[in-house]
Amino acid sequence: MSTPAKSPVKSILDESRQIERAAMLIRMGARMQLLESETTLSYERLIRLYKEIAGRSPSKGQLPFSTDWFLTWQENVHSSLLLGIHEYLSKAMALDAAELLVKAYRLYVEQVGTAGVDPLLSFTRAWRLVKFIDAGMLTRTRCARCGGQFVTAPYESRHFICGLCNPPARAGKSKTAGALMLH
Ligand SMILES: [Zn+2]
Repeated sequence: MSTPAKSPVKSILDESRQIERAAMLIRMGARMQLLESETTLSYERLIRLYKEIAGRSPSKGQLPFSTDWFLTWQENVHSSLLLGIHEYLSKAMALDAAELLVKAYRLYVEQVGTAGVDPLLSFTRAWRLVKFIDAGMLTRTRCARCGGQFVTAPYESRHFICGLCNPPARAGKSKTAGALMLH
């Protein structure tokens, strides 16, 4: 059975689903770029919705388009944790991209919270990370020492050592204070 493409009921349902999704993403702290990418609503529509839900205008400006942030020490540990959860969930349950990200992000916040650490990744950062992975600009590489999977640049060497096994010198004595240890 095929539904006619122009069915008014179908388009109303589609639209309400899109609004619901946008509202969920706005509540998670999504920025405009994310909303435009993950919903089919118009920019004007999204701005109005954003103001209504967040009670303020969305912040202006583009997100930094760089993979560097995800490769610095603690940021990398957090990114690797989020991505591990994301990958696990994507295999365990059938969710669309937006739902998957929301679920993964919630679990990530919960998990770092249990460790007494503040989340370093914002929801929009987490989205950006997944996009970089999808685009092949970042990947996951197994640490040769601990065996954990970490976010790295593509084509990282097979002898890659993660930031937990080999913390940067600047981490110094306080290397475990406020830091997230995965093992
Ligand atoms: Zn390691």
